[in-house]
Amino acid sequence: MRVKILDLEFFSDSKQELLEDIFTRVKNNQKTFIITANAEIAMYARSNKDYLEIAKGADLIVPDGIGIIKGAKIQKKHIKERIPGIELMINLIEHANYNNEKVYFYGAKEETLNKMISNLKLKYSSLNIVGYHHGYHDDSDNKITNEIKTLKPDYIFVAKGCPLQDDWINKVIKEVDKGIFMGVGGSFDVISGNVKRAPKVWQNLNLEWLYRVLSDPKRINRYVALPKFVLEVIKDRRNI
Ligand code: UDP
Repeated sequence: MRVKILDLEFFSDSKQELLEDIFTRVKNNQKTFIITANAEIAMYARSNKDYLEIAKGADLIVPDGIGIIKGAKIQKKHIKERIPGIELMINLIEHANYNNEKVYFYGAKEETLNKMISNLKLKYSSLNIVGYHHGYHDDSDNKITNEIKTLKPDYIFVAKGCPLQDDWINKVIKEVDKGIFMGVGGSFDVISGNVKRAPKVWQNLNLEWLYRVLSDPKRINRYVALPKFVLEVIKDRRNI
């Protein structure tokens, strides 16, 4: 099921249902483009036509932020739960580890990426990491695209932030035969241990965003989109 919030069609079922959907896609070698979106990204799509076109081409838009769930409530629509991108990524890695599926990582600083890879190898000893590359690379040489074409990973996790990661996926997915391509933002920073996720209590109170702002006050600029998002949601509700 899908629910439209502003201009984006969000996956509205549970994380378990989403995982089953993705596992079926992996089994069928079905190319899939996953965007993990929050209120800020929904607002960005509203103001940027190119990005909106890219997002419309995605197969799954995951409600990564609590703002999206609240927005749905305001419009009397129902999204079952927030699905944090990092949790989805970890669940897919667990599945890949268990089923010997191939994984590729692209993004973040080289040191972060290396730390993440060693953490993953410790925890998931059978994980078949077929390749990886840091995210500060000029893509015009198609090096990574060619690597993905040759290695044919089942999952390609891209951590370059929005919109860079989604622009890249949108371009590359057209050139390959298979793969679940997922934009994961700052997730490599978290798995590497460089950035801590909010403690469970904060997560349960839906205050993960506040914890992030307090840990990295520079991020405050990102949340100015939130009140504007709420206004747009209310405006849209009047037009439904
Ligand atoms: N990044 C990258 N290449 C770039 C710009 C950013 O690999 O050219 C990485 C950056 O190192 C970080 C991630 O992209 O690991 C972006 O994280 P951010 O927290 O900004 O993403 P969000 O989760 O907010 O979308």
